[in-house]
Amino acid sequence: MKKTALLLIIVCASISGALRAQNQTDLSEILNQISADSVYATVQDLQNFGSRLAVQNENNPDGNRDVADYIIQRLERYGVTTELDSFAVGNTVAYGLWIDQWFYNVKGVLPADNPIDDSIVLVGAHMDAIAFNSNNYYVTAQVPGADDNASGVAVMLELARICHANKIQFSRNIHFMAYDAEEFGLWGSEADAYKRSKAGDKIALMMNNDMVSNPPDGDWRLLLRWYDNAVDVLMRASSICEQYTDLLPVTLPDSENMLRATRSDSYSYYEYGFRATYASEYTYPSTYHTAYDVTDSCNYAYLAEVARYNMAMLATYAGSVSWIIPEEPPTVTTTHVYPNPTCGKVTVQFLLEQNSPVGISVLDLSGRTLLHYDNGIQSAGIYHSELDLSVLSAGLYLCQIRTDKGVETLKVLRR
Ligand SMILES: [Zn+2]
Repeated sequence: MKKTALLLIIVCASISGALRAQNQTDLSEILNQISADSVYATVQDLQNFGSRLAVQNENNPDGNRDVADYIIQRLERYGVTTELDSFAVGNTVAYGLWIDQWFYNVKGVLPADNPIDDSIVLVGAHMDAIAFNSNNYYVTAQVPGADDNASGVAVMLELARICHANKIQFSRNIHFMAYDAEEFGLWGSEADAYKRSKAGDKIALMMNNDMVSNPPDGDWRLLLRWYDNAVDVLMRASSICEQYTDLLPVTLPDSENMLRATRSDSYSYYEYGFRATYASEYTYPSTYHTAYDVTDSCNYAYLAEVARYNMAMLATYAGSVSWIIPEEPPTVTTTHVYPNPTCGKVTVQFLLEQNSPVGISVLDLSGRTLLHYDNGIQSAGIYHSELDLSVLSAGLYLCQIRTDKGVETLKVLRR
């Protein structure tokens, strides 16, 4: 009797091990399917509307109704159930305009296959745009909004495309949201968050992407703005970025963060007590809120990386957890490099889980080793190793901590 039980346990253990290995490969294969051409095509489609100014005007008598219809068509093509979620705003003045009209959110639902609960992971982005001329008057005819925020909508649609193509089974419900009238004060997301709060929706996480395609040349930083009710999500997001993408996750100190974190749709959800994240490029481009925010100025390799980050977040928060559990616990955990960016000296912090030889290397992006420090055999514990990068020219580098079980890679930006 005992023997049989033991045998069964061994068999179960090896099956779950095999499944894990299989699923893990699947996630990186799925991330590889995310395509820069595909996200570019969406940004171009949205730019082709000419203007996505949310208020009705002579060029857009129905506001963004046509843009909403386009997003609905795209989502339906990927098997997502959609709804045009209209809301009205009246008796309001914004940018000197008298507002009394309907606005159009798009809501898409991809139900869970194996629900672990009735909660929702929501991926959202605003679809409206705004542009001002040199006299600071808003313009109506040419409002391309490629980076702000066709890029965020492109991420959302790319996730829907990839989920459909791979028939991914989620354990939480996925909601895709495109918001109208963000530029007038987060009106679309406010309307949705209010409604969900009233309805008692359980949102496990709201993921907002706003301006994710136009960093300066060679800047792979992704700014992760955060909310004090979701600091654990920030930590997770940052390590997912490191693990699955070429992006360099960056966060801001409390005071500066909160100021910036109020400026996009995730803030509406935070205000109603929901947990949210908010990704954007680190530096606002000079084309921000002008007629020059066009597809030609964007970086689609960067945008595709942001989509990969989002997909890995979806896998983590809505997929089967086994997707991202490593086969063996890593020897090195809790890694951190600071200050980052640096002007020269950095400290690499890591927790060595078991005794092991440790070597730390600094590589360029082509994988060439530029600096190497051999620390010899170290006993388990927390380490702070100082490196001097002042001999390197400005740019992005990889810092690798090597043990006898594998390699942990961190990114570091030398100013
Ligand atoms: Zn925006």
